[in-house]
Amino acid sequence: EDVINRIAAGEVIQRPANALKELLENSLDAEATNIQITVKNGGLKLLQIQDNGIGIRRDDFGIVCERFTTSKLREFEDLNKICTYGFRGEALASISHVAHLTITSKTASDVCAYQASFVDGLLQGTPKPMAGNQGTIITVEDLFYNMNVRKKALRSPAEEYQKVADVVGKYAIHNASVGFAFKKSGDNNDIRTPQNSSHIENIRIIYGNEIAKELMEFSMENQMYNLKLKGYITNVYYSTKKFQFLLFINNRLVDCQSLKKCIDHVYSTYLPKNTHPFVYLSLELDPSNIDVNVHPTKHEIHFLNQEQIIETIASGLESKLLGSNN
Ligand code: ADP
Ligand code: MG
Repeated sequence: EDVINRIAAGEVIQRPANALKELLENSLDAEATNIQITVKNGGLKLLQIQDNGIGIRRDDFGIVCERFTTSKLREFEDLNKICTYGFRGEALASISHVAHLTITSKTASDVCAYQASFVDGLLQGTPKPMAGNQGTIITVEDLFYNMNVRKKALRSPAEEYQKVADVVGKYAIHNASVGFAFKKSGDNNDIRTPQNSSHIENIRIIYGNEIAKELMEFSMENQMYNLKLKGYITNVYYSTKKFQFLLFINNRLVDCQSLKKCIDHVYSTYLPKNTHPFVYLSLELDPSNIDVNVHPTKHEIHFLNQEQIIETIASGLESKLLGSNN
């Protein structure tokens, strides 16, 4: 049974970067305003995330790693509203099957912090009281220590590190009010974004001023599809070496190849050959129209009226580009 659980967990958590994405989303769900990430050996030796969010109550330590259990469900009367596909109750459980997981946490009402480790979804012993500030520290060590197949499928630590950094950078841009610090252990090249920053300022920090200075704001609404869109996009006169596409739907970083292709196509008539746009979009859709049953390994998102919505966005973007050209 453990082997089956482990294989299932290895499907959810395929590499350090998607473990970290899940952990980041948990910290953001916990209303953290400061998040610190430390990575060793591309996230394989250590992946640690510390936040100042609401914390985990001592009594909840027993269930946080139970599969398909989520404390977040309590807050919702309407089950449809949980469709924010972050709430699957699978992340911590999965991590505990494929790594050494330690959780340290303190809520506002607790007098001290508690720490416990988890193996195969189970709390080990009882949470140990200790000193600590409000918030949560999740420590993931020796990822895939018990899954050689997964481990072998990974790239070099440097490449895995890059994928982790990419995810952190994108979340920092999207969540500009939250302060992020990203540390590669034994390296001073941290990524830091201040608290109460702006999207554009964080784009400058992460992608550089060359890109940031030329971006323009782009926003649109469409009543028929109940969509709201905000973002920053490449000006027609400016382009990047590679297509940088940051897409958040209802605040979750997702892939949508068909939207990406469509935007690339719109730009292709405006940008010089061999240049590409930078596009950061934050799209809000009715959560009940998003397919949450897609398997977690499929990062590709699906939603109702997808083709029409993509068309709508692409033509909105095109008019924006035409407008800025005149
Ligand atoms: P989900 O996010 O779908 O609820 P997870 O496995 O990601 O499932 O997390 C399980 C539970 O652990 C969450 O519902 C939440 O109660 C708690 N939790 C995890 N990370 C944090 C955190 N950083 N701060 C507060 N609570 C957390
Ligand atoms: Mg989660």
